[in-house]
Amino acid sequence: MADTLNKIKILLGESLRTRLLILLFVLAFLTLLVMLLLQVYRAYDIAMPVGQDAARVPDLGSLPSQNDREVLVLNSYHIGYSWSDNEMAGIVDAFRQQGKRIYPVIEYLDCKRHPRMEHFERLRDLFVVKYRMKDFPVVIATDNPALEFALTYRSRLFPNASIVFCGINGFRPEMIAQADNITGVAELLDAGGTLAMALTLQPAVRAVYAVHDYTITGLATRRETEEQLKPFAGRVAIRYLMNLSTSELVDVLRNLPRDSIVLALSYSLDREGNVINHEKIARILSDNAPVPVYGLHEERLGYGIIGGRLMGGKMQGSRAAEFALRILRGEPASRIPVDILSPTRMMFDFKQLERFHIPVDRLPTGSVIVNRPVSFVSKQPVLVFTTLGMMAILIAGILALGINLYQRRIAEVEQRKLQDQLIHAQKMEAVGHLAGGIAHDFNNILTAIIGYTNLLRRKLAGDDPSRTFTDHILAASERAARLVKSLLAFSRKQVIEPMPVDLGEIVKGVEKIARTLIGEDIEFAVNLHASATVMADTGQMEQVLLNLCTNARDAMPKGGHLAIETDRVTVDDESRRQHLLDRPGTYGIIAVSDTGNGMDEGVRKQIFEPFFTTKEVGKGTGLGLSIAYGIVRQHNGTIQVYSEPGRGTTFKIYLPSIDAAGAPIAAAEAAAVRGGTETILLAEDESEVRELVAITLREAGYRVIEAVDGPDAERQFAENGSAVSLLLTDLIMPKKNGREVYEQLRLSSPSLNVLFMSGYTADIIRNKGVLDDPMLFISKPIIPDILLKKVREALDGPAGPKA
Ligand code: ADP
Ligand code: MG
Repeated sequence: MADTLNKIKILLGESLRTRLLILLFVLAFLTLLVMLLLQVYRAYDIAMPVGQDAARVPDLGSLPSQNDREVLVLNSYHIGYSWSDNEMAGIVDAFRQQGKRIYPVIEYLDCKRHPRMEHFERLRDLFVVKYRMKDFPVVIATDNPALEFALTYRSRLFPNASIVFCGINGFRPEMIAQADNITGVAELLDAGGTLAMALTLQPAVRAVYAVHDYTITGLATRRETEEQLKPFAGRVAIRYLMNLSTSELVDVLRNLPRDSIVLALSYSLDREGNVINHEKIARILSDNAPVPVYGLHEERLGYGIIGGRLMGGKMQGSRAAEFALRILRGEPASRIPVDILSPTRMMFDFKQLERFHIPVDRLPTGSVIVNRPVSFVSKQPVLVFTTLGMMAILIAGILALGINLYQRRIAEVEQRKLQDQLIHAQKMEAVGHLAGGIAHDFNNILTAIIGYTNLLRRKLAGDDPSRTFTDHILAASERAARLVKSLLAFSRKQVIEPMPVDLGEIVKGVEKIARTLIGEDIEFAVNLHASATVMADTGQMEQVLLNLCTNARDAMPKGGHLAIETDRVTVDDESRRQHLLDRPGTYGIIAVSDTGNGMDEGVRKQIFEPFFTTKEVGKGTGLGLSIAYGIVRQHNGTIQVYSEPGRGTTFKIYLPSIDAAGAPIAAAEAAAVRGGTETILLAEDESEVRELVAITLREAGYRVIEAVDGPDAERQFAENGSAVSLLLTDLIMPKKNGREVYEQLRLSSPSLNVLFMSGYTADIIRNKGVLDDPMLFISKPIIPDILLKKVREALDGPAGPKA
């Protein structure tokens, strides 16, 4: 149990941010679920057929508990005539809501095709036969022809039935004055209301073309319309288009003036006898008239009319059915007054409004607009906004996670970089120690070789053929000595002579040589962006820059650009890591960039290692960069490389910059090699070196007293002290170091001169506090000429070191 809890805890994460995120996700998910369920419920609700849901049936009271009742419905026209189809729909819907206990028995009289009603008598005969056993309580007659039929044949066909009518054009009370048990709904087209509205929408209209046919209905609506439009007579010209063939009508329509409108009255039959339904006439009028077509029938909306105060068949039918039901419940028809003013709605077609540039906001309030494009957003706003909101939450979550991941990755990268850097530094340190150790021992051997060869050479006469052999040995030894020097430079065991110097001076110092070095195919630029004073051994730094320039040249066999630039940067504890620097501070930078071959990562990682080269045998030594590395490190600086295969390479040297100028150290002057006759006390534990040095000095005329270590030197001095002019001593010896020996001897002979020898580095020596003045130091391998020169200097110079 506790285990499971722990697992969940781990899953939920430790940080507040993670928990918040998870909470957001859960909330978003639940919201989506609820919204979806709501939508599902909604769809179900919409799909319910009308009348199936008991709770929605209006309470119209109960019918007599007899068996199912039948109502005869006489339809004037035919199925497919939308007006009367709508009337039927209104009737049937109303009956259905009564629990299917009332059945409409429907007869279509087909009077659109037979407007003269010549078939009525035959129909009567048919119905006599057909319904002889029926006794309908109510007969519904839709539209004028059916009412006429019902009134004419009532006594013969259904003498006991009440009559309910609807859709009656031009209704006048006289029409039913002779009959009893009759009521219904008149169909009054609102031509006056429609025109009034049209004129508010289009005040510039000067002519109205009213279209109607010559059927009973058509003529009836014409009469009504004339009556209703009387008040407009002064304002607009009203013309009636009638008794035309369809093609004649089209012709007239096409030539209508721009300041007119069309008003579509009843029109279902053209002069040639073609039946034209509501949709079709709306299309003919709208397609051909260059002006808006106003209508009066809801059935025409969406088929081309722009709109109007419209009356619809369904409303007529349901009103008639309502009356019929009241009669069935026992209310006498004579007590139900005829509904004279039929209900209308202001309705418009968005497409037509657009066609004639009538803005929607000019329409009267309460207008119904069809064909209006409905965006998904307005139809399902909740769903859309929840989905968008959730997507935003999810995206935010993903972003947050991404940022998290990115930060973690960066941290990992940086850690790896630092680790690599550390390993690299350690490796270089180890290689340096090894190289330094080898070089140190090798120095002693070289000292012997060079020394004895020199001695041998001096013994040979000037024309002795063996002199070429000694010269070869010396030349080879010198190369070996240079190599050892390089190794020492790399392992930081070389003496450097740092002075305050401006970066620009260093660069200028190599500019000329670099130019000749790189040849003519390579463009060379020097940019001294910033000046910075650094502590540097100019000669060493020049060597570094020349090494870099040589490499750059080798990387651009087909030419390219080489640039040396200076810069200055101040790094704090944070940014120093990016620069891979040891400590914060201000640094002077010398950058050497080329547009050459560049390096891949494998090469780049090894370039500072001694003897690593990608160049063919004889061309590269693999020491150039290791020397550069050693020198720069010895200057407390850093050398960095940026390179990509094919893109070129940039080396950057960072040197700590200084503010106050340090005291420059005087450079040694070349002096002629001279010998002497003074007595020199020589202390050196390495017998080979000691012997060589002794011989060299004696050859030059000096008297030499040899001591094998520090205590021996003190003993010998005690015996012959008064004669000794110079102490020449190895610095690092097993029992007592050279410095200590010198201090001891100076007690009794303060004017004693001294010269130290060592294969160790000057900075180690300085660290140990044994040597302050590099002037009094000679490094191994000991070259006879240099030895003699230094000895002379030591003897001739002011006695005693500057402590
Ligand atoms: P060497 O020049 O004798 O090969 P270096 O230590 O100077 O030795 O250079 C080591 C290696 O580093 C080169 O062999 C070369 O592969 C690579 N290298 C150094 N500088 C560049 C440079 N500017 N462009 C491309 N590669 C370089
Ligand atoms: Mg090189």
